[in-house]
Amino acid sequence: MTVFYDKDADLELIKRKKVAIIGYGSQGHAHANNLKESGVDVVVGLRTGSGSAAKAERAGLQVAPIEDAVAAADLVMLLTPDEHQVDVYQNQIEPNLPNGATVGFAHGFNIHYQLIEPRPDVNIVMIAPKGPGHLVRSTYESGRGVPSLIAVYQDAAGQAKDLSLAYAVAIGAGRAGVIETSFQAETETDLFGEQSVLCGGMMSLIQAGYETLVEAGYEPEMAYFECLHEVKLIVDLIYEGGIANMRYSISNTAEYGDITRGKRLVNEDTRAEMRNILEEIQSGSFAREFIAEHQSGSPMLKAGRRRAADSQIEQVGEKLRGMMPWIAADRVVDQSRN
Ligand code: NAD
Ligand code: MG
Ligand code: MG
Repeated sequence: MTVFYDKDADLELIKRKKVAIIGYGSQGHAHANNLKESGVDVVVGLRTGSGSAAKAERAGLQVAPIEDAVAAADLVMLLTPDEHQVDVYQNQIEPNLPNGATVGFAHGFNIHYQLIEPRPDVNIVMIAPKGPGHLVRSTYESGRGVPSLIAVYQDAAGQAKDLSLAYAVAIGAGRAGVIETSFQAETETDLFGEQSVLCGGMMSLIQAGYETLVEAGYEPEMAYFECLHEVKLIVDLIYEGGIANMRYSISNTAEYGDITRGKRLVNEDTRAEMRNILEEIQSGSFAREFIAEHQSGSPMLKAGRRRAADSQIEQVGEKLRGMMPWIAADRVVDQSRN
């Protein structure tokens, strides 16, 4: 497998284009600011009255209504939430899109599940950072980058791959590594990763570990340090040098507990459930479920956010983090700005 880096891209390909970034959320703010600082001509397309307009303008970006930004663009990067993309694409993008323009996605969901069926003259590409948008921005600012996947779905003009690679390099991904894949593989692996390991699996593991200790009578503050705070410290060691690097740093006692107890938690039943989750993604049943959730006003998302806000682990965490001022000093999420 080829991994592409800065040296493999022709940055001029993207610098010659007018890029419209639609949406100024987690990915949108990162792409817009990184592209601008890489010398690309960027406009941010937002709904009239959007709360994000002031943030983008304060960052020194040009802002326009979505329709106008699209009409003037060579490349339109669609960075609204996935569940809003069909609407935005059909009503505001395609009717205003110049002939032969390129539309980019940061996740293959709507193209892969055929919720958006683009005009044949439109080039359809993907530049999908493998990390949260706020880190796409913060790593770029410190001269680093987040690895990204690129993919081409429709290539009317015959330049789609080189353009995607140039875009990936302009947002900083070429410092970390860029892999070419398909919309299908990106969509299925991304959904699987966030559901099974990164978000679903890990949040449930943290929560269950915390609750097990608190229910057994231990102090919530101790349970928070043990089961949530320390996750980062352990993950930093894995990130830096893999599993062996982490096991080198922990005690032999911890390592013995790791290799003998971990498999009791993530056992054959857990793996069977992971395969079920993957199958729901591959068959499209997860996608149908998520679209239905959106169409009925997102009741599960809203209830989940309310439950989390009221939970003890979040309240204890807020108090304890307040005593560690470096956490706030280094924070990458500032909702007034990004
Ligand atoms: P987000 O939830 O942060 O919000 C995007 C922005 O879209 C909002 O800030 C707003 O400016 C705008 N918006 C919201 N609703 C809109 C509407 N109805 N019409 C027009 N504009 C609207 O989005 P995000 O998490 O950055 O996701 C954008 C895309 O990037 C998705 O395809 C997602 O799968 C992909 N992606 C996200 C991440 C991530 O870190 N969040 C990582 C990889 C890929
Ligand atoms: Mg995702
Ligand atoms: Mg992802």
